[in-house]
Amino acid sequence: MKDSANEQLQGKQGDFYYTKYGFEKAHWHEHAPSPQQFQPAYLHSSEFVKNGYHCEELRDGFYWVTSGGYDAAFMVTKEGVIAIDAPPILGENMLAAIESVTDKPIVKVIYSHWHSDHIGAAAMYGPDVEIIAHEITRELLVRFPDPLRPVPTHTFTDTLLVELGGEKLELSYKGANHCPGNIFMYAPKQKALVKIDIVSPGSCTFMHCDASENISGWIEAHEQILEFDFDFLVGGHITRWGTRADVLTSLEYFQDMLAFAEEALLDMCTPNGAAIFFTTPPVDQYSVGTENWINSMVNYVTEKMLSKVTSNGQKWEERLAGVTTNTKYHAYTVVESTRTERSHKGYQKRGTGGTNYFV
Ligand SMILES: [Zn+2]
Repeated sequence: MKDSANEQLQGKQGDFYYTKYGFEKAHWHEHAPSPQQFQPAYLHSSEFVKNGYHCEELRDGFYWVTSGGYDAAFMVTKEGVIAIDAPPILGENMLAAIESVTDKPIVKVIYSHWHSDHIGAAAMYGPDVEIIAHEITRELLVRFPDPLRPVPTHTFTDTLLVELGGEKLELSYKGANHCPGNIFMYAPKQKALVKIDIVSPGSCTFMHCDASENISGWIEAHEQILEFDFDFLVGGHITRWGTRADVLTSLEYFQDMLAFAEEALLDMCTPNGAAIFFTTPPVDQYSVGTENWINSMVNYVTEKMLSKVTSNGQKWEERLAGVTTNTKYHAYTVVESTRTERSHKGYQKRGTGGTNYFV
């Protein structure tokens, strides 16, 4: 029996939902394969295929759990377990991973941020656990209730030290980035840092800067990660945990993109630069001009990124997974956020006077 997605796809191009005004289908043979560093050995182990998850002790009772797409973490202490996040795609495999290394109960749960793709299975921890999160996360979960994401029982605004069984976990908040309320979680003894949805080690991360809200804050968060003395970064995605080198590489990729976005905006957001997109279509077709204007900037950034020889002599597609598919989505988000979050360096003067990018 076909599932509904397959029924939807029938007659639409076989394995792709084609529509005239939508996106083109991507063809795998036209894209760079993921670099080897993005394919850790566990992905090919029979245990991973059978169980659907992989669990690894990073250091001294600090564990990393991954579905191969989403990851989370937990700390085993003498007095019980501190669980960090509950991605639905891991679901009860998170419990199985914990039970595979300890018979201690889970007593504390920490939410990295309010997004259901990372904490949407939290109800499985039961009603007796203490749930710790940022105050903004609590506000959002009260405002948009979800029985699978119980409201935190304990919140903080700037910093909070979580202690259990002689182990320490330092929580801190440095402002909105991926979303408001997204916190840093640092285990100083193990030198393990959990910071979700900023860096996806080994890849250029998911579309649109990992579907983030505040792109200035999201790029700044790379630098904030580097302020920690860590050996292990749990980033929430995709196939592996990361190192400082991964964070530096991701930061370099997005700094390159910011620079090219600035070039595109300076060229195509001046009165003359923007005008060419809006003079040809009739006035009742302004949205066609808008699409061509925005996408021209995005295409400029994408081409510059994909053709650039980077600081180590390699192209981006050789250094990070997902570059040839995802760069255009990141470019859209970085161009748009630069237009909305950063200085326009001027504004319309009376009459016809304008200045560098004013749109
Ligand atoms: Zn998220």
